[in-house]
Amino acid sequence: MADDTAFSLLKQRSIGSSRAVFRPRAPTQVPEIHAPPPRSLYIHIPFCTHKCHYCDFYSIVDTRDRQDAFVSRLVRELQAQAPFATDPLHTIFVGGGTPSLLRPDLWQKLLKAMRTHLDLSMILSGEGEFSVECNPETVTDELAAVLQEGGVNRASLGAQSFNQTHLKTLERWHNPEKVQSAIETLRAAGITRCSLDLIYAIPGQSMDEWDRDLRTALSMPIEHLSAYALTFEPGTAMTARLVRGEFTQAPDDLEADMYRHGLETLRVNGFERYEVSNHAKAGAACRHNLAYWRQDDWLAIGPSASGHFRQHRWKNTPRLDDYLNLDEDGFAPLCDHEPPDDRRELMDLLMTGIRLSEGIDAKNAIKAADSLDAADALHRAAIMCADQGWLNDATADRWTLTDEGFLFADRVAREFIGALMTD
Ligand code: SF4
Repeated sequence: MADDTAFSLLKQRSIGSSRAVFRPRAPTQVPEIHAPPPRSLYIHIPFCTHKCHYCDFYSIVDTRDRQDAFVSRLVRELQAQAPFATDPLHTIFVGGGTPSLLRPDLWQKLLKAMRTHLDLSMILSGEGEFSVECNPETVTDELAAVLQEGGVNRASLGAQSFNQTHLKTLERWHNPEKVQSAIETLRAAGITRCSLDLIYAIPGQSMDEWDRDLRTALSMPIEHLSAYALTFEPGTAMTARLVRGEFTQAPDDLEADMYRHGLETLRVNGFERYEVSNHAKAGAACRHNLAYWRQDDWLAIGPSASGHFRQHRWKNTPRLDDYLNLDEDGFAPLCDHEPPDDRRELMDLLMTGIRLSEGIDAKNAIKAADSLDAADALHRAAIMCADQGWLNDATADRWTLTDEGFLFADRVAREFIGALMTD
């Protein structure tokens, strides 16, 4: 159990509405507790050339003139958090936004600061994982060389579809042919681990078209593929267009069939599912995302970045203007902070862990639930999910989803969470 005195709510600051500001103290003031140092770091780069209509990530249309100021603050925040990462980092993930939109000279500045303030020995030796999200249009020889030189060894490219009509529906602005050339550019620079993101269940998309997208992706030298069903998030342009009747959502049974088809096509091509939407060749699962889903600790910098450290969860302000106003110690204003809470920790573990093919350590989950007087309820929820055919075996050492259960992962998570709330 984390020691609350490791952190302090130092003062109240208004960020839109009044919110508590959470800041770790200097590491010398942190008492010894039974938690290893964080081994992962997330960095959020918020710039994009255009807002895709389905996107609910924090991103702003750049405005290249704000990149310099942004990177200065990012480096400052990195300096503030770096003392907590006392061991070599295992994984770094730079997401966004469009990180590949950052100017190469600013990338160099950021990468140099990372080398100065963090122990990147595992990353630089190739043992660790350093991923950067790239938009295919923005990958240049110069950028690829800078990233490789800085230790980046994995790129995640947002392809989404290779069908121009469906890219248009998504208001995703890139030429699908650029995906292949971006991978070639990255590989030529020495970044050989590549992942593609695809979206299915796009309005008007047929099964044949989904199959073509999958096969085009598989014709490329990739080791990892994320396949997401299109979701209509509140507040996005896509959802507004749906409400206006510009198109209709893909029927549930077609979406489920597309999921099954994707799974099977990827499986016969050597990609195993290790999370509901993520598939990888042997040994190529994204270790950084696994750290999230297993509820390990990670530091997080940049606007809207969310971190998890010694059972504290926090989220940086999602507004660039606010973010640029770091405090005198270099910490960013927050829009959210949740102090340690055993019940929430267990809920988070169940919610993300059940989405993994490796599933959840059932004994540990029951033990943790027992200390919350919820062991019986959690056990009953597991039995109910097994009876529905969603869980393989409620009495096994690990709770894992059946193939059908992967289509109901959110429902299973809700059952587990409900069990923890009612008892
Ligand atoms: S490029 Fe990515 S982060 Fe930027 S708007 Fe599109 S989906 Fe969102």
